[in-house]
Amino acid sequence: AKQIKVSLIGNPNTGKTSVFNLLTGLNQQVGNYPGITVEKKEGICKLARGVKAHILDLPGTYSLNASSLDENVVIELLLNKKDKDFPDVAVVVSDVENLKRNLLLFTQIKDLEIPTILVINMADRMKRKGISLNIPLLERELKTKIVLVSARKREGIEELKSLISTYTLLPTTPCVNALSFDDDYFERLQKVFPNQSLYKLWLVITQDVNFRKVDKKPVGITPDFQIKTESELKRYQQKEAIKRYQFINTVLKEGMVVDEKAATGLRSKLDRILTHKFWGYFIF
Ligand code: GDP
Ligand code: MG
Repeated sequence: AKQIKVSLIGNPNTGKTSVFNLLTGLNQQVGNYPGITVEKKEGICKLARGVKAHILDLPGTYSLNASSLDENVVIELLLNKKDKDFPDVAVVVSDVENLKRNLLLFTQIKDLEIPTILVINMADRMKRKGISLNIPLLERELKTKIVLVSARKREGIEELKSLISTYTLLPTTPCVNALSFDDDYFERLQKVFPNQSLYKLWLVITQDVNFRKVDKKPVGITPDFQIKTESELKRYQQKEAIKRYQFINTVLKEGMVVDEKAATGLRSKLDRILTHKFWGYFIF
């Protein structure tokens, strides 16, 4: 029977490996990617009704603008539909305390038009940090399914598993048009390749700049679409990031409330004790 291919993707320290361990238990193995010393972790997860998923715990990455070997592993996989590990579903693991930063990568993954699930991990820390989320609103705006997970408390994993088994129903539409800014480069590019994901084309072209991987060039990319200088590349990437963050800020403004008082409650209690007259007398 076919196994559902799942890639766990996310910034470093969001809890990918913790989620991976809960999904795969003892059914996991660790190796290396061919030719490099980046660790490759994969395992099997049993879903309902005898269905199995193959889970890949990808190296942590901040964005798809590759600058390290680790990040390159992620991009190479996501750009290569023929890779045996190419995901049926991308599970983006984020940390509720760093949601804004984590969502940058999420919006990029969405642009690749792969079925995507957003895991918001470390849910156990929300109360203490005074964070509340409007999940239906976030799901609507980000065009995704969201699972609140606490890997530490082993919560949300069953829900994640059942979402993985229904991956064919997940939306594959991008959530922000990050490459539409005041430059006709992208308009021209889309006109020449009307049926391809603009962002995917862009990644292929810029990966070529970064890594000289000529074999990844889509057939027909003409020299006038090559980015000629590092500074031109940086300028486009910066504009892209600004667009994404504008979108993320707008979404989070409505979808996330941080009650600063609750977040600092613990601290102020401590302050009150320390500055209490009685203690002040003895301590200071
Ligand atoms: P990775 O770098 O994305 O693979 O993240 P890890 O799984 O290695 O976790 C990074 C850190 O976050 C570790 O110290 C974990 O114990 C911690 N962590 C992971 N999941 C949770 C969670 O749900 N709640 C809390 N409070 N900490 C977590
Ligand atoms: Mg890890």
